[in-house]
Amino acid sequence: MIPKSEFIWMDGKMVAWDAATVHVGTHALHYGSSVFEGIRAYSTAQGPAVFCLDQHVERLFASCKMFRMPVPFTPAEIRAAIVQVVRDNKLKSCYIRPLVFRGFDNFSLDPRRNPVQVAIFAFEWGSYLGNESIENGVDVGISTWRRMAPDTGAALGKIGGQYVNSQFIAMEAADHGYQEGIALDVSGNVSEGSGDNIFVVADGTIFTPPLGSSILKGVTRYATITLARDLGLPVSEQNIPREMLYVADEVFITGTAAEIVPIRSVDRVSIGGGARGAITKKIQDEFFAIVSGRVEDRHHWLTRVG
Ligand code: PMP
Repeated sequence: MIPKSEFIWMDGKMVAWDAATVHVGTHALHYGSSVFEGIRAYSTAQGPAVFCLDQHVERLFASCKMFRMPVPFTPAEIRAAIVQVVRDNKLKSCYIRPLVFRGFDNFSLDPRRNPVQVAIFAFEWGSYLGNESIENGVDVGISTWRRMAPDTGAALGKIGGQYVNSQFIAMEAADHGYQEGIALDVSGNVSEGSGDNIFVVADGTIFTPPLGSSILKGVTRYATITLARDLGLPVSEQNIPREMLYVADEVFITGTAAEIVPIRSVDRVSIGGGARGAITKKIQDEFFAIVSGRVEDRHHWLTRVG
């Protein structure tokens, strides 16, 4: 179970962890009318630092705009609240979960008369797929569940209800003995994992599906593309056919929770000999050096909690 922190920011106030509750009539509980973020704060020599705070808050507001959900706070207020949650809970490194959701007024499927509420909580959390996954990689399978069609949902929005799709993908993967499931988009190209984006290394180029493949525009995806280009590695956002994964030199997934994790097999087909690839390691090393403050934060990705 998630370890308790002391305080949760709820609708503008800090409340005790156990007091951050909602009524069972809450619209979001019934219909998934919520938007959320997953953010990490890393421990550095100068204290905790939130990674890519601006990008996450920007995506939170973009998701809310797509879903016609006016946030009753400004982006600056939300950024400050996120930092305050880390600080007040005296967390050194943590996972932060801002949640904007429709509260209780009525059960109409047009959610817009229900009040918009905001909660931000944070807790200590290691790597989502286990610390050894970062080095040794994980086994994944292609899901029989597809990502939503472009006209079935708003894949670019991190919208609660859309995560039923991710839950089907994750359950099927676990039942088949995989640590993650990779979904195809409706045209059959590779889309993404249940909670992470995917990258493929072939012939010295790094490929990742484009925004049109029903992916979430991952912040770690953005950081990975930026770091790869810094390292002089070519990156191409383009459609990826499933079989390209089987013959790739390297495959890895990225996400705030998972971080950067090598894939050692897809559908039991070993990738690159089943060991972490050199390019994956290079990007991981750069990523972890930046988030931990060991090298200069040249892209201004860290917000000190201080
Ligand atoms: N895709 C999905 C479906 C996700 O839930 C996540 C996690 N937020 C990602 C990709 C990766 O996004 P990020 O790097 O911003 O965490």
